[in-house]
Amino acid sequence: MNLSSQLHETAKRVPHKPAYYFEDQPSTYAELDGAITKFASGLEKLGVKKGDHVGLLLGNSPFFVIGMYGALRLGATVIPINPIYTPDEIGYILNNGDVTTVIALDLLVPLAEKMHHTLPKVEHYIVCETPQGKGTSNSQLSIYSKLKSFSEVVALGQLSFRAPEVDEDDVALILYTSGTTGKPKGAMLTHKNLYSNARDVGIYLHMNEDDRVITTLPMFHVFCLTVCLNAPLLSGATLLIDPKFSPKEIFRLAKKYEATVFAGVPTMYNFLYQYPEGDPKDLQSLRLCISGGAAMPVALLKSFEEKFKVVISEGYGLSEAAPVTCFNPLDRPRKAGSIGQSIVHVENKVVNELGEEVPVGHSGELIVRGPNVMKGYYKMPEETAATIRDGWLYTGDMAMMDEDGYFYIVDRKKDLIIVGGYNVYPREVEEVLYNHREIVEAAVIGVPDPNQGEAVKAYVVSNNPALTEEAVISYAKEHLAKYKTPTLIEFLQELPKNTTGKILRRALKEQVLKS
Ligand code: AMP
Repeated sequence: MNLSSQLHETAKRVPHKPAYYFEDQPSTYAELDGAITKFASGLEKLGVKKGDHVGLLLGNSPFFVIGMYGALRLGATVIPINPIYTPDEIGYILNNGDVTTVIALDLLVPLAEKMHHTLPKVEHYIVCETPQGKGTSNSQLSIYSKLKSFSEVVALGQLSFRAPEVDEDDVALILYTSGTTGKPKGAMLTHKNLYSNARDVGIYLHMNEDDRVITTLPMFHVFCLTVCLNAPLLSGATLLIDPKFSPKEIFRLAKKYEATVFAGVPTMYNFLYQYPEGDPKDLQSLRLCISGGAAMPVALLKSFEEKFKVVISEGYGLSEAAPVTCFNPLDRPRKAGSIGQSIVHVENKVVNELGEEVPVGHSGELIVRGPNVMKGYYKMPEETAATIRDGWLYTGDMAMMDEDGYFYIVDRKKDLIIVGGYNVYPREVEEVLYNHREIVEAAVIGVPDPNQGEAVKAYVVSNNPALTEEAVISYAKEHLAKYKTPTLIEFLQELPKNTTGKILRRALKEQVLKS
């Protein structure tokens, strides 16, 4: 039940297979495993111990893979952080997460220098050299004595390093998720959580040594970590590491390496679908496309599948469940619009306000139980008790199950719009808008309304500059009950998205509140 020792096993099985390609350079499993051991040993020589907290401020790169697996091999707890967060956000997570070692690109050294007086617990900054950065060369810095380069740490280490025993219930990762209110909460995932989910996802999606998986989702996000990093590495597959998503690079990687698996959030599928130079032949080696992280509009799923002749299997997960709970199966029909069935070892259930299971076809809150469910939120016992009750994780997502055991996410509980007492789920309205030929993207929110309490407002990105508000409203009226039809339409050049590519309804709501 330990990812890092399992990777060692994979390396014994397929030592000469490429574990990954990065910037067109391969690295074999034996090389990767050796670098991980040396990095773990180097960390230990620096004074980092089992149980210490190591922050990773890195984009997609071998540094991330070696840094994370190396720290896990030493029994440390890893806290991956989005490197483009603001200094305030980064500072909050480093302090709240009790981080004592930070691994970051050397480009962030000036930021560390500026912030270090607010980070009293940090003892080591390990910097990854980039062609544009200055490494650890500036001895004028006040953090100079705490700086080490990544390659120095690897060089310090020894292949004879003996990894300490780690318990499967020890915390392997703390993932900070932006909750609905207040500061982000750190979801504590144990070695068992991470390993079991990677293993079960791998089994469910038939990951194997012949797979070449495009790893373009951000590694600091749990969707990428489990589906595009841990599961393929356990299976002996090859990662095609892409530092930054662009349709051009995806088509290039897929063609050059005959990629077999691509995983992305729905907005990525939209970009690939709309990319004018995207030649379906370049994607012909794909055996599977995986969508998750947000609802996949059915219209987009169908047009993508038709254009590129590949099946998209949609799944669902959340940080607190390491993350996957459901996936559309590969050996049974995939149902468009559904997140699929419970994966092996994980139970999903739809319940009412009293926690009682609702009948098939009725909606309620989705709750989850299994070896993947987190230990709790770091230093937040009350939030933990509110989220995990009687062993079940309350997801905050509204869902429905059909007679075949397929689940459908209706929407986030908190995104529900109430118009004159009637419930409107933004997703249902968005699905209708995505069916319009001239609408490329859509997001729906509730805005204050003096008569109805809330009104439905749609933000729309169109490929036709002549499309009018009235035309969109009258189209929506044909397909939706009157109370669900948007009464306000705003055209945007693009919708706000987070770095994972999820559309941020919350940012749109904040804009309305400010105006
Ligand atoms: P995160 O913790 O950042 O992974 O976000 C998890 C949230 O993403 C879930 O609670 C859902 O609201 C949303 N989500 C993930 N997958 C899907 C999906 N397939 N359909 C709809 N929402 C999803």
